[in-house]
Amino acid sequence: MQFQPIFHASHRPVLIAGPCSAESEAQVLATAHGLKDQGVDLFRAGIWKPRTRPGAFEGIGSKGLLWLKRVQAETGMRVSTEVATAQHVQECLDQGIDVFWIGARTTANPFSVQEIADALVGTDTPVMVKNPVNPDYKLWVGGIERLYKAGIRRIAAIHRGFSTYGDSKYRNVPRWQMAIDLQQEFPDLELICDISHICGRRDILAETAQKSYELNFDGLMVEVHPTPDQAWSDAAQQITPVQFGDLIGSLSRRSISSDDPGYLSSIENLRQQIDELDEELICLIARRMELVRAIGHEKKARNIAIFQPERWRTLAEACRCRAEKNELSHEFIALFLEAIHQEGINQQERIVNHPMPAALAPADSRSHD
Ligand code: PEP
Ligand code: MN
Repeated sequence: MQFQPIFHASHRPVLIAGPCSAESEAQVLATAHGLKDQGVDLFRAGIWKPRTRPGAFEGIGSKGLLWLKRVQAETGMRVSTEVATAQHVQECLDQGIDVFWIGARTTANPFSVQEIADALVGTDTPVMVKNPVNPDYKLWVGGIERLYKAGIRRIAAIHRGFSTYGDSKYRNVPRWQMAIDLQQEFPDLELICDISHICGRRDILAETAQKSYELNFDGLMVEVHPTPDQAWSDAAQQITPVQFGDLIGSLSRRSISSDDPGYLSSIENLRQQIDELDEELICLIARRMELVRAIGHEKKARNIAIFQPERWRTLAEACRCRAEKNELSHEFIALFLEAIHQEGINQQERIVNHPMPAALAPADSRSHD
């Protein structure tokens, strides 16, 4: 796939801002006027709101489109809203909405994305595709592909984090690697970070925006409301236009590289050392897996279960202590141990259950796509 840019601004990151939901004409226009001199490239407001549970405010509906038209006329900003059905697409096309976006709950449903894609055939509308609520990379790419196949070329991806169950400081955990993978696979696809839905709260918006700058995102999407505490949806994560200006002003922009010879030679040297260590790391892990396989044979001979909870608890605890002394975060070491453990279990499973009829091969070797 080869994409064209939605945003032509020479500056990066581009800024998308506006309320979670359009609530009244006055609220939409107050937000837009508060944002128009803050370098905002695209105004956002949800008109049809997919809510997790019924009974919450489900959007003002079609009349909100007229308010967005007033934003275009009075501020000169381009405007965008979320579409979830062919009917939404048609109404937005009729009203001249500049950019559409597909929400996280919709991206998770290929039937809905296909319906939207079909309704867009023959138009040249820019569309931004949010990641699905669940961390499924292929489903995200699949949504983008459906639009591409419908002839849409100006497509951007919006990273808004992933649903989680349990403790996290985020409303939707970012799992940054997935956004990094998307950038690697599609370098010309514009990638926007929706910090509001990742954070779900105001106090960590700035650090999250800064993180997205470090990871070379092309832009930010931020929910802005004239009186955030009174917002009809997502009150805890919205900020005022003034706070938006302060937030953007507080961020340090990074350049992608430098041709300073001092920088280039020192980075080259450090990267060489990293490459060598990476090679050693792979060899060490491979040696560790050899030992794991040897244990697998011992277990098989005596019909012993692969997973040994007590052993794993002790080992993980020892690694966590060592990691702490070496300034490695809990988060990292937990992920690292999980990956090592899973690979160990997979390798032992292959030994213990070998030979096995093809139909019963481990799930990871079969396709569910
Ligand atoms: C939104 O942008 O207001 C929204 C509903 O977001 P998401 O689809 O990411 O939950
Ligand atoms: Mn919202």
